[in-house]
Amino acid sequence: MSVVLEHGNSPAADATVPWMVEDRGVPAMDPGEFADGALRPIAEKVLGGEYLTAEDGMALWETRDIFSLGEMANHMRRQKHGNVAYYNINRHINYSNICALACKFCEFHRKRGENGAYEFSHDDVFRIAGDAAAAGATEVHIVGGLHPWLPFDWYLEMLRGLRTRFPKLHVKAFTAIEINHFTKISKLSTREVLTALKEAGLGSMPGGGAEVFDDRVHDEVFKGKLRADGWMEVHRTAHQLGIRTNATILYGHVESRAERIGHLIKLRELQDEAPKGAGFQTIIPLSFIPEGSELGHLPGNTGLEDLKMLAISRLMLPNFEHVKAFWIMQSMKLSQVSLSWGVDDLDGTVVWYDITKREGGAGNQHQEQTVEGIRRLIVEAGFVPVERDTLYRRVVRSADGKQWSVAT
Ligand code: SF4
Repeated sequence: MSVVLEHGNSPAADATVPWMVEDRGVPAMDPGEFADGALRPIAEKVLGGEYLTAEDGMALWETRDIFSLGEMANHMRRQKHGNVAYYNINRHINYSNICALACKFCEFHRKRGENGAYEFSHDDVFRIAGDAAAAGATEVHIVGGLHPWLPFDWYLEMLRGLRTRFPKLHVKAFTAIEINHFTKISKLSTREVLTALKEAGLGSMPGGGAEVFDDRVHDEVFKGKLRADGWMEVHRTAHQLGIRTNATILYGHVESRAERIGHLIKLRELQDEAPKGAGFQTIIPLSFIPEGSELGHLPGNTGLEDLKMLAISRLMLPNFEHVKAFWIMQSMKLSQVSLSWGVDDLDGTVVWYDITKREGGAGNQHQEQTVEGIRRLIVEAGFVPVERDTLYRRVVRSADGKQWSVAT
C-alpha cells in the first residue's frame, strides 16, 4: 500500500538516456501543409496566441485530419513546457463513500448500511497519510461522498491533525460539491467555509464535480448536484482567497460535443477573472467509464475520442498552464501517447483510488504506478520526466528517494 520509490528514479539513471536533455524549443508548424483546410485559420490563431471560438472548437471535433489537430496541440504544449513532462508522488484518500446523493454516472456512492459502505476515522486518515509521507509522497488528495451526518468540525479537525503530524505534506482536498455541502451543514457562506478550511490546513482544491456545465446534461444525469454557476462560484471564491484549484470535465456520457466546447469556454472565462498568480492550475479531462454506473448501457469513449478531448482541451484553454491525463481513466498507454497531443502532466503514483476502476470489480481499487514505471513511459515517449509538487514546483530527492525538497 505504500508509495513505491525504486531504483531508476535518480537523475544519474536518466542521464544514461542520450535524448534526455531538457529542450524548450518549439517545432515549426506550417498550417499551409495541413490536409484539412478548415484547420488552417485555426492554426494561425494558435500561432498568434488568439483564443479559439466555439465554432473553431467544433471544427476541431469534426476534422478527420487528426495529425494536424495533434500537431497544433503539441505546438501549444511545447511553447509552455518544451519537452518536459510532469508527474507527482501522491496518495488518494477517499474518506467515505456514504453520500446523500445518487448521481447516475457514479459507481462510488453508497447509503449508510448498504453493502460496501465505509467511513474512515481520523486515525485511519492519519495512518494512511503517514504511510504515504514516510514513503516520500508530497501530496494527499482527499475527497469523499456528501456524508449526511459528519459535522463540519470533523473536516477541520482532519486538516488540523494532518498539518500537525505531516507539515510537509500538501493537502489537496474537497471538490466544489463537498464545499457546497459544508456550507449547508455549517450554515456558513462559501467564503467562510473556504477561509476556515484554509486556516485549518487546506493547501489547494481538486477540480472534480464540474462534470459538464450544461443544465440539460445536469438535469438528466446529476440532478441534485451543484449546478455550473454554483461550481464556478466556489472556485471563483477560492481563487479570490488565494487557493489554487484544478478543473475537470467528465465527458463521454449524454453530453454533446458542442456542450463540451461550451464547458471549456466557461472555464476559460473564469480563469480570466482570477487574480494574478491564482486561479486554475490544470484541466483534467475525465473519460467517462460506464461500467458499474446507472449509465452502464452507454458505449464509453474510444481511444481516439480521448486523444481528441485532451488535444482540444489544450487548444481551447491557452490560459491554463497544464493539461493532465488521469491514467486511471484514460489508461497508462493512452496517457503516454497523449504527451504528444497537448498533455504535459501524467498525475501521480496514485495508490488507492476508489471512485472509478477502469477494470471494474470489487477489491480492485489498488491502482498504483511506480515512479520508475511513470518515468520510463515518459522517456519512451521522448520527454524528460520532472517530478513536481502540487503547485508544479520541481522536487529534488535524496538518493533513497524518501527525503525531498522543492528546487530553488
Ligand atoms: S458523484 Fe459525488 S455527489 Fe454524486 S453520488 Fe457520487 S459521491 Fe455522491
